[in-house]
Amino acid sequence: MKCGKPVEGDSEYCPDCCGKETHFQYGRAAFLYDSLMRGSISRFKYHGRQEYAAFYAYAMYQQFSGMIAEAAPDALIPVPIHRKRRRRRGYNQAELVATELSRLCKVPVVSDYLLRTKSTLPQKELSGRERYLNLCQAFSVRTATQELYKVPRCVILIDDIYTTGSTIEACAKILSRQGVYKIYFLCISIGQRI
Ligand SMILES: [Zn+2]
Repeated sequence: MKCGKPVEGDSEYCPDCCGKETHFQYGRAAFLYDSLMRGSISRFKYHGRQEYAAFYAYAMYQQFSGMIAEAAPDALIPVPIHRKRRRRRGYNQAELVATELSRLCKVPVVSDYLLRTKSTLPQKELSGRERYLNLCQAFSVRTATQELYKVPRCVILIDDIYTTGSTIEACAKILSRQGVYKIYFLCISIGQRI
C-alpha cells in the first residue's frame, strides 16, 4: 500500500513500512531489483549507459501514468547526488530518468531546488534507522530557487533504487518542511534490504 513492494499473505504493508509514519504519500517502482536489474542499473549508473534512462522512464510511464494523472504533480524532483559525485560520474542518473519521464507525462522536472549538500557514508552496512539518520542531514533546499518560483505543492520524487525508503523519506521530510504538502515517489527498481 505504501512502497509497492510485494508482500506475502494479506499484509498491506511490507516490514519496512509497517507502523512507520512517513512524509510521503506512497510510491511505486517499475521493476523488482533482481540480478538482471542489478546489472542493468549498475551499467546505467557506473558504466555510462545513459541511454537506458529512456527505457526505464517508458516502463515507469506504462505502469504508472494513471498514478501520475491522479497525483497531478507540479514537478518531478530527481533525488539529487552530491555535486562532487556528479562531477565524477558526469550525470545524475535520477535526473536522466526524470527528464525522460517528463517528456512522456508533460510534468516539468525541477532539479535545482532539492540539493544534496553532504556526501554520505556508504549506506549498505547500515540499518534502516541508521541510514535515515545518516541521510537526514544530507539534503537541503536552494533558497534562491525558492525566491524565483513558488514552492511546488505536489511533487513526485524520482530515484533509481528503493530499498528501505530512507532516502525518499529524508527528501520528503525536508520538502514537507518547505510547504510541499503532497509527495509521491517513482523509482526504477525496488528491492528487499540486502
Ligand atoms: Zn513498504
